Amino acid sequence: MAIHRSLPLGNERTQYGRAPASRRCRQCGIVIGFGERCDFCLERASDHEDAVGEHRGRHHTEWIPTVEALIGEGDLDAAEFLLWRLVEATEQEALTQHVPPLEQHFRRLGWIARQRGDEMLATQLRKRSAASKASATRTSGADAR
Ligand SMILES: [Zn+2]
Repeated sequence: MAIHRSLPLGNERTQYGRAPASRRCRQCGIVIGFGERCDFCLERASDHEDAVGEHRGRHHTEWIPTVEALIGEGDLDAAEFLLWRLVEATEQEALTQHVPPLEQHFRRLGWIARQRGDEMLATQLRKRSAASKASATRTSGADAR
């Protein structure tokens, strides 16, 4: 297994100076403090279905430290993959629960797109973020209750 070195990127000055690369659940990949799997994966019912706003049994906001760890380790592929799921989760939540979407997910995905020179995708993400924001405030009308 490759040892990733932290890039001087994240604004997370780790509390424990020279910690090794972050430890993640072997099953879902979320950052955990110890052990091989997170408590959710240890106990999960195999038929668990994510509720709106969730990804793999966690609210999308709970994945933020994992995104930051992946970016800090330079694993942009994994960060991108995860961020797409989080964008979908926050969009669904905005649409159905009328809570504002977490723009951070869109912004980080856009940042990764720009690292790859994909300005078009970065622009699409800005529009998608704005559309999601608009959907959260649309409380009446088409979506019948
Ligand atoms: Zn897990």
